[in-house]
Amino acid sequence: MRLDDTIAAVSTPRGKGGVAMLRVSGAEAVQICEKVFVPKNGKKLSDLSVRTAIYGAFFATEPDGSRVSVDDGIATVFHSPASFTGEDTVELCCHGGILLTETVLSALIAAGARLAEAGEFTRRAFLNGKMGLSAAEALGNLLEAQTHEQMALAHAGTGGRVEAKCREIYEALRDVLASIYARIDYPDEDLADLSREEMIDALSGCVRMLEALAATYRTGHAVAEGIATVICGKPNVGKSSLYNRIVGREAAIVTDVKGTTRDVLSETAALGRVTLRLYDTAGLHETSDPVEQIGIDRARRTMEDAELIFAVFDGTVEPDEEDLTLVNALQNSAATVVAVINKADLNCQSKAFYRAHFTHTVLLSAQNGNGMDELIRLVEEQFTAGEIDVRRDAVLTNARQNGAALSALTSLRHAVESLEVGLPTDVCCTDVEQAMEAISELDGRAVSEDIVSQIFARFCVGK
Ligand code: GDP
Repeated sequence: MRLDDTIAAVSTPRGKGGVAMLRVSGAEAVQICEKVFVPKNGKKLSDLSVRTAIYGAFFATEPDGSRVSVDDGIATVFHSPASFTGEDTVELCCHGGILLTETVLSALIAAGARLAEAGEFTRRAFLNGKMGLSAAEALGNLLEAQTHEQMALAHAGTGGRVEAKCREIYEALRDVLASIYARIDYPDEDLADLSREEMIDALSGCVRMLEALAATYRTGHAVAEGIATVICGKPNVGKSSLYNRIVGREAAIVTDVKGTTRDVLSETAALGRVTLRLYDTAGLHETSDPVEQIGIDRARRTMEDAELIFAVFDGTVEPDEEDLTLVNALQNSAATVVAVINKADLNCQSKAFYRAHFTHTVLLSAQNGNGMDELIRLVEEQFTAGEIDVRRDAVLTNARQNGAALSALTSLRHAVESLEVGLPTDVCCTDVEQAMEAISELDGRAVSEDIVSQIFARFCVGK
């Protein structure tokens, strides 16, 4: 991908709307836009000062070669480096017609711009040092956010908190390393370098900072990525009612006819602060209906990949053979299993049985919502660290960031150990350098082209 040419794309979603915005970025942005947009007051776009918006007409070329005005609108000029991408940028707002927007885009391409690839504006912002990689990932999450907590976490991340924390740890490590090298290079001189104990102390401080950062991924995963959650149980215990209660609307069909949920329904929903990637499954039971059987097989596979399972039981009746099969099947599950004893608005005679068989049980009524607070409290306790504030703290939000933090941590712990057992101080240098490399990967200062491409490919065109 070239990075020195000028790109253009429609930044608003495709469709009919009041206004559409096109973005043009690169060294030629202003010159290219001057061929398509003419200010009404006779000024030239290139004469405008920083971040000035101006009213004018859009022009396109007809098939016979004549230039015609196709719309009136606004252009805003951003001069490098004071723009989103760090390059000269022009944002053009025309009316939001589908054909009209395509016509303006085609005119920009004809005037010399290249159609931007997915995420290319943000990628340029990253490469021009306008934002770190974690901040760019947060921006992607902000566009995808489906819950308020996800949105708050993503917005905080775009401010570069993870980058700031990485920088703090990186600089502390660099100071220790400089001191070790000073000792190796000039062993006879007193360069006021650190004693072995002081090095251990300084590196242990960095280990603690990294541990605290890595620990935030628990919450970051629960909010940003979401917990794969399965609702299971035999037919008619209230699975669909619980699903609807969590998603806040009648998404699943609730009836007292067995086997109404035949496929796996899925949806992203908030449960307190936690995001659930929620799957409502067909009730697990023996059936001769081939369609229902496919649903049951899918339910089993979904359960194997789950991190959280809500096993729903009807508390008003004694557990039967099917309930017992589920109880047994869940005893060795790798997921966190919560036994939901449902229909608590009626007399729940079998609650003692489920409490004896599961570590986590919640008595609730999916019908009237009583007991949901307890379910929320339990899930938040299991999947987040309470002291973390997603609006304020540096929080790791994906497996890539977490992997880099853990790799830095392993190297640093190794460095501390080698100093503690009395190995020569230079032995720990390699470990400290590896830790610094991993931290640079985390915030994107040194990261492979492959990873960068993968991250920005997730974005839409125009972002
Ligand atoms: P599913 O087959 O497990 O998905 O169960 P549904 O959610 O379709 O519910 C089966 C029946 O139980 C329906 O008639 C619901 O109205 C009823 N039901 C579900 N939850 C409750 C509850 O908490 N209390 C009472 N009294 N009835 C419930």
